[in-house]
Amino acid sequence: MKFGGTSVANIDRLTAVAAKVKAEVLRGNKVAVVVSAMSGVTNDLVALANEAGSSYDTNEYDAVVATGEQATSGLLSLCLQKIGVPARSWQGWQIPILTDENHGKARIIDIDTSELKASLLSNIVCVIAGFQGLSPQKRITTLGRGGSDTTAVALAAALSASRCDIYTDVDGVYTSDPRIVTRAKKLDKITYEEMLEMASLGAKVLQTRSVELAMNNRVPLQVLSSFNEGVGSDLLGTQVVAEEEIVEQEIVSGVTYSRDEAKITLLQVPDRPGVAAAIFGPLSDANVNVDMIVQNISENGSATDLTFTVPRSELAKALEVLEACKNDLGFIASVSDDNVVKLSVVGVGMRSHAGVANRMFATLAEHNINILVISTSEIKISVLVAEEFTELALRALHTAYGLDAS
Ligand code: ADP
Ligand code: ASP
Ligand code: MG
Repeated sequence: MKFGGTSVANIDRLTAVAAKVKAEVLRGNKVAVVVSAMSGVTNDLVALANEAGSSYDTNEYDAVVATGEQATSGLLSLCLQKIGVPARSWQGWQIPILTDENHGKARIIDIDTSELKASLLSNIVCVIAGFQGLSPQKRITTLGRGGSDTTAVALAAALSASRCDIYTDVDGVYTSDPRIVTRAKKLDKITYEEMLEMASLGAKVLQTRSVELAMNNRVPLQVLSSFNEGVGSDLLGTQVVAEEEIVEQEIVSGVTYSRDEAKITLLQVPDRPGVAAAIFGPLSDANVNVDMIVQNISENGSATDLTFTVPRSELAKALEVLEACKNDLGFIASVSDDNVVKLSVVGVGMRSHAGVANRMFATLAEHNINILVISTSEIKISVLVAEEFTELALRALHTAYGLDAS
């Protein structure tokens, strides 16, 4: 069972969570619980770390931002003990959950489950601080924002759990963010593959890496509300399943947005072999993820403009890297814009249907929304547009693909 920030926001909420855990224990289940920081806490810690100068030492950034989860794990253990359920807290380093040393977005390498298993066998609920791990250098790491989902799925896989239930503040995965698209519909089931695309394209209900791990390890995963009465499948949330388990497949199952985008255009890049490698190599060395890319055809055959997107939080670093190699690369200037949003439509049914992309372009055109960059994959189409159009475009696309609840 994993509980996110709003689900553990205060002692009342933690008391309600403890009751849910107790209900599962009373059904005869052995339960490992993963908790996030109380809502707002991680944001505050990130702000403090940045104010103190986090770019100097990412080890210390993680030492700071991982603390929110420590508090929640202790508090939930206390709430459980209070209602007669034996429980103890576990920090990432105590288990340990071993990660690589990529601070701020570390990946889990291995989890030693021996002590957790012993605790579960003695009927002691394990309350595990999500989001954190231990690097080979024995420093505290964090798994990237939303990383408690990944802790939960990785533990479920390592413990061969029969279920991984992600409790949050919505009652499942919707066709679009229900906070923006009020006519979004809840999905009873979604494939791992679509959920993976939706998560990576902005649907933050599950962290992308958690879906990837669930898919690779076939972890039975469901998204449930911690605010409704009941536990597990009583709650009728959304199950994330293999494609074979879905009988009737819609062409498009969801529309997502991501504001974490920034666009960079390099003007007059020399049009010669090796230039893309020379630009994207240094960005990748600096750990900047490049996403959408368009290269224009050069008019005169000697130089061309190159546009691509990077995470908004990495724009400054990307521009710094590019500036440092400007002379070698030979472009004349870089222009950036971070008032952009990426909108995507996702669906495995796209593989076998034509016209899906065109409906997206036509819908945006009807609303006079200009498309800046386009990218596609087998099961998704993404466009970059000005951020001011986010809500309008999302709702229009949701309607255009027939996803609105009746
Ligand atoms: P938690 O703190 O429990 O991890 P998050 O805030 O990370 O919760 O994720 C839940 C939020 O994800 C919801 O409140 C909702 O606004 C947002 N969300 C975005 N896209 C979707 C979607 N397609 N379906 C459900 N929720 C979504
Ligand atoms: N507390 C962390 C965050 O806010 C991890 C999580 O909630 O999953 O990103
Ligand atoms: Mg989350």
